[in-house]
Amino acid sequence: MRFYLSGCSNWHLGFSRLNSAKSRIKSYFQLGSDHGKLLTTNHMESSWTRTYATMPEKIPEDDPISNMLVDSFGRHHTYLRISLTERCNLRCQYCMPAEGVELTPGSKVMSQNEIVRLASLFVHSGVNKIRLTGGEPSIRKDIEEICSQLSNLRGLKTLAMTTNGLTLARKLPKLKECGLNLLNISLDTLVPAKFEFMTRRKGHERVMESIYTAVDLGYNPVKVNCVVMRGFNDDEICDFVELTKEKPINVRFIEFMPFDGNVWNVKKLVSYAEMLDIVGKRYTGIKRIQDHPTETAKNFTVEGHQGTVSFITSMTDHFCSGCNRLRLLADGNLKVCLFGPSEVSLRDPIREGADDNELRQIIGAAVKRKKGSHAGMFDIAKTPNRPMIHIGG
Ligand code: SAM
Ligand code: SF4
Repeated sequence: MRFYLSGCSNWHLGFSRLNSAKSRIKSYFQLGSDHGKLLTTNHMESSWTRTYATMPEKIPEDDPISNMLVDSFGRHHTYLRISLTERCNLRCQYCMPAEGVELTPGSKVMSQNEIVRLASLFVHSGVNKIRLTGGEPSIRKDIEEICSQLSNLRGLKTLAMTTNGLTLARKLPKLKECGLNLLNISLDTLVPAKFEFMTRRKGHERVMESIYTAVDLGYNPVKVNCVVMRGFNDDEICDFVELTKEKPINVRFIEFMPFDGNVWNVKKLVSYAEMLDIVGKRYTGIKRIQDHPTETAKNFTVEGHQGTVSFITSMTDHFCSGCNRLRLLADGNLKVCLFGPSEVSLRDPIREGADDNELRQIIGAAVKRKKGSHAGMFDIAKTPNRPMIHIGG
């Protein structure tokens, strides 16, 4: 098993307080790993030069999206996903290996102040949606304070969370008061014994309770994430659609994606086409909704149902051209593509005293290096990436 975290801590090269601001920024362009090896300094130097050659000196004052968030394909990144922790109270088979993952030491996980500082920088530059994820974000002790502080950022419209729902029901009223206004709860089976098999833990009824609590508290829709895997839960697709009949629930069927340690195999993948076929045969009144260009899901209404059904088709029909997402991992690394191994640390420069302008330059350079689209699923499966539990979806 590969352990990435020791690699990550080496990714920034020889930072020194005595360096000038420019050389300090350069030192953070570690750019991730190439099949486990660090990229060379020469590579970094050329990336620096290439990236900054394309950056205008000044951002027009009337542009609500800072140049920092626009990549070389013109995509505006207005959506930031923040992983609050690598820890989790479940052990889902598709997310992490049975033997677990090595955790970043607590001192290297972003503190509340660091999270809020970075989030504030992103929001002031044009990010209008933040999603908290993990690991399991709701187990973080300061989750309420984090939600309060983030929801008070001027310009932020949506504060969302993706959670396994295990301990959410009792925490949710307070989290809602703290400004959490969008909720995705993950649930892959409606059969309690299968839940225990898929997540390697008990707790099915508690997740169901969280879903119904969220509905009662007025979350509309309550999004339910369901990763579909052949031989595990593909026989339950229509049962999940039934959940949308009487309640404002949006069931989101997600194609199984390869990440390190999750034993991905194309035979376990149930494609969008196949899932839609299964749903279409039973629900003839299913209709596609006209989606926004940055919408990653394919959304459908079902005649007579209060809720809706969506498909996340990352494997068989990627949506990279409209991608507006950036990811900040719990260890403070910025990841510009879910399936790309490149990461740059924002935590290290912060801890070395970088000011906001220096951080903006590091972020802007990473965004500019984002590729037009990710590789196909078979190449993704062969490329080292982190386990999903480190990334947060
Ligand atoms: N613990 C929280 C939860 O489970 O909702 C948040 C973190 S989890 C990594 C975020 C989302 O990623 C979940 O909806 C989960 O189902 C999804 N996910 C994890 N591994 C996946 C995989 N291999 N393919 C597709 N989705 C995956
Ligand atoms: Fe934990 Fe979520 Fe991963 Fe399941 S999917 S192991 S709940 S982080």
